[in-house]
Amino acid sequence: MTFNTWFLPIRPVSFEENVIKIQLPTQFFWEWIDEHYNHILNKAIQSVLGPQGKLTYIIADEKETESDLKISVAKSNDDIKAQTPSVKPSNGNTTFNSNLNPRYRFDNFIKGEGNQLARATAGAISDNPGETSFNPFFVYGGVGLGKTHLIQAIGNRIIEKFPEKKVIYLSTDSFTVEFVEAIQSNRVNEFQNFYRNIDVLIIDDIQFLTGKEKTQDLFFHIFNTLHQARKQIILSSDRPPKELKGMDERLISRFKWGLAADIQPPEYEMRIAILKNKAEEFGMTISNDIVEYIASNITSNIRELEGCLIKMLATASLNSKDISLDLARKIVREIASDRKVNLSIDDITKIVCEYLNVPENKVRDKTRKKEIVLARQLSMYFAKEYTKSSLKTIGLHFGGRDHSTVIHACNSIEVEMKDDLHLAELVGKLRSKIELHTS
Ligand code: ADP
Ligand code: MG
Repeated sequence: MTFNTWFLPIRPVSFEENVIKIQLPTQFFWEWIDEHYNHILNKAIQSVLGPQGKLTYIIADEKETESDLKISVAKSNDDIKAQTPSVKPSNGNTTFNSNLNPRYRFDNFIKGEGNQLARATAGAISDNPGETSFNPFFVYGGVGLGKTHLIQAIGNRIIEKFPEKKVIYLSTDSFTVEFVEAIQSNRVNEFQNFYRNIDVLIIDDIQFLTGKEKTQDLFFHIFNTLHQARKQIILSSDRPPKELKGMDERLISRFKWGLAADIQPPEYEMRIAILKNKAEEFGMTISNDIVEYIASNITSNIRELEGCLIKMLATASLNSKDISLDLARKIVREIASDRKVNLSIDDITKIVCEYLNVPENKVRDKTRKKEIVLARQLSMYFAKEYTKSSLKTIGLHFGGRDHSTVIHACNSIEVEMKDDLHLAELVGKLRSKIELHTS
């Protein structure tokens, strides 16, 4: 599937002096490939052509001029390493790469109710990094809602306005990996000094720092130095600071010093706007009824809206067909079923039990206590919706009950929800918790 979508449409154009030139259907296509397959492509090219190997591209239907021709795949092995900003002790200097993806900008970030505060704050910070009271700026929300886009847009804007500022974006995982490498090579001081000299530090998915005490400790010191020097710190997370279990309390309290802004799922109008904008960006023509169909059926994740367009575009262009409502239906169904593979019945049970404060093992035995029965029924209800497991498998998971018990549980939740507003609200809250874990 990946190969068909992304690699099949690539046309080789030329190969001269270690430079391979390829042609891609749209600019977006290139960016997608560059973002997701850069490593693999690099490895492949350099293993065949050596460090001199390069890849350049042109976009179909665009006249090729010198400036159209962009070299995006790393030019040498050094560039590959530079993908995570890393400390390089060579000749006493530390060099880095801001690591920002130029695709993430404010002008292609669509505003909506769900991201209003976060977007406005991001703008204010870009004008005066480190100088506002929004330090740190902590953005949180579910998957695919634009956290990475927004925090990188801040970085891109700052570099544009203040070219002298050292801006660094990195994922919490890269930060952790670099730290571990620094420990192994006895370069912790260097590592620390490097980060203490940054003007704008942007760290994505800080929830992955939970449970990593040593890295937290180091980050705590870097945080303090930067904050005292009025350097801007920007963080993203899938949940608000107070819900970061396993995070040092000192860090949690610092995360609350500035501004914590959430991003909520897009409302209908925003979903329409996103689809229309992205379609234009990808050079697609797509009718209103298709846009409306997708906006009504993909509701809680902007990445999925985008993914849906891309899949439609790829499928239609491969089969030389127009984008039809039937195709939209098929792709929406595929996306819904992809969504399911990520979660297990146990994951769901855990989320439900944690929220209801009920011991997990109890839902698996025969207890008939009211709150346990509710937790069990809700777990079954969501397991049916969010996993690919059969009713039989779900029943077996809950103490060997049979499939009719599962059907009964799902029905009673659905029926009771209609009259019981508290239950309806509970189901809604749990659904958003569960959706935080799907991607
Ligand atoms: P997150 O980091 O919250 O998981 P991302 O920032 O990766 O989400 O967003 C997922 C995709 O949706 C990206 O391609 C991003 O460009 C797009 N996107 C998210 N929010 C918006 C928005 N408000 N306007 C335009 N595109 C958006
Ligand atoms: Mg992200």
